[in-house]
Amino acid sequence: MTHSIPYDAAIKNLLWTNPWLQLPNAFYQSVQPTPLDNAYFIHCNTHTAELLGLSTEQLQNEATLRFFNGQQLPPAVQPTASVYAGHQFGIFTSQLGDGRVLSLGETLGKDNQRYEIQLKGAGLTPYSRTLDGRCPLGSAIREYLGSEALAGLNIPTSRALCLLGSETKVQREHLTTGALLVRMARSHIRFGHFEYFHHKGDFENVKNLTLFVIEQHFPELLNEPTELRPLRLLEAIVERTARLIADWQSEGFTHGVINTDNMSVLGDTLDYGPFGFMETYHPEFSANTSDDLGRYQFDQQPEIGRWNCLALAEAISSLLPSRTIPAQLLRLYRQHYHQHYLQRLRLKLGLSTPHPDDAKLVEALLITLQQGNIDYALFFRQLAHFVNVQEKNPALYGLTSDPAKLTHWLTLYQDRLSLETISSQERQKRMNQVNPCYVLRSHLLKQSITAAEQGDLTGFYRLLTVLQNPFEEQSGMDFYTQPHTPKFAY
Ligand code: AMP
Ligand code: MG
Repeated sequence: MTHSIPYDAAIKNLLWTNPWLQLPNAFYQSVQPTPLDNAYFIHCNTHTAELLGLSTEQLQNEATLRFFNGQQLPPAVQPTASVYAGHQFGIFTSQLGDGRVLSLGETLGKDNQRYEIQLKGAGLTPYSRTLDGRCPLGSAIREYLGSEALAGLNIPTSRALCLLGSETKVQREHLTTGALLVRMARSHIRFGHFEYFHHKGDFENVKNLTLFVIEQHFPELLNEPTELRPLRLLEAIVERTARLIADWQSEGFTHGVINTDNMSVLGDTLDYGPFGFMETYHPEFSANTSDDLGRYQFDQQPEIGRWNCLALAEAISSLLPSRTIPAQLLRLYRQHYHQHYLQRLRLKLGLSTPHPDDAKLVEALLITLQQGNIDYALFFRQLAHFVNVQEKNPALYGLTSDPAKLTHWLTLYQDRLSLETISSQERQKRMNQVNPCYVLRSHLLKQSITAAEQGDLTGFYRLLTVLQNPFEEQSGMDFYTQPHTPKFAY
């Protein structure tokens, strides 16, 4: 892909194939998008455009607008909606599917990854059930900001490519406008795709999907003996899932709906419904107001990730050599989860070498954060300035309602730092590269959505700017560092 391609051809040339078309017909249906009325660009994401080798001009032009709005799709582009199933809140639903999403095709990014491009909100599909196939502007902004926030924190996720507004009306709690999110991910294959075929007893298509995923995304497994490949694939997915959830836990991200139909086989974060970043540290933080039993609350996420891996193991069981595998997988999941979580926390604490007591130090920290009602993100950011316990850094102590408990933990931290060899300047520098000053706080997200619905997009643009570069303090953006909860007088 070079920038010499004419604007209107750039996007067409980009999509070389639709991956779903390589699978049997049972996996998808061909669907044409239903254009929105008077669509217009709200935003084009230079970060993801660049990843695809596109300039902003190549993306933000009339021809591309008509392309994404489904008004001018060349015959070579054959959009599809795929079918999947899923365990939702632990209960199996035998058929779901892309009800408001179409896949256009895939391309190769500059990072040598495949990227599948999807339209969200392009109208009805055979899997829309009684719903309308549309995406309200507010939901599109939620996903746009959520996915870019996680990408900014180096957490694997689907990405936003661009956002279209329109004059199409969409009925939700109130009448709102329809938007179209153009998003991309290395793949949108979910655990639920495997579950759909397994629970129908269609083991041939479980096998087809397994081979497809291996060939497309885990080609290194082709070196394994044929009969062991499904097991190796499962192990690789378990590892990625454990790592992803460890990433979420270390940044205070709560997904809100970790149903198996929202779980990517590549370990990317998919589906930005009722997610939330924790502000004040609380393990029972929930981002989903309809999750009465707390199934998907913050501290349950590691366990739910494991549960979902077992559901996937069941869905692939027809290809596995033995029934004892789940026990093996559980161990594998726990091991990867703990390893990755601890490693990420070490970096956040500025610890450059492992020490056997680090897990205890982290455990003590989480209790201290909870007891002192401390803002999770701000704490790590301020901790970089820690010098010694005697100094009583006012910015750090201003975050806690329980200074004595904080002093106790800082004493442990100080002892631990004495085992390190890097200078405090170097530690501070490294900590500021991994601890964000900006996270997507729910009140900021809400404000930007409310304003956007009233036609004011400045909040959305500003928030996006800080989230895409969350480790660097940006002038005039102090507002976006502020927690919803008040600071404590020290
Ligand atoms: P989600 O809660 O986003 O994971 O969606 C669950 C299922 O409902 C998926 O199969 C979606 O495709 C479908 N769905 C959600 N909203 C809509 C909508 N507005 N129109 C059609 N299908 C939808
Ligand atoms: Mg979903």
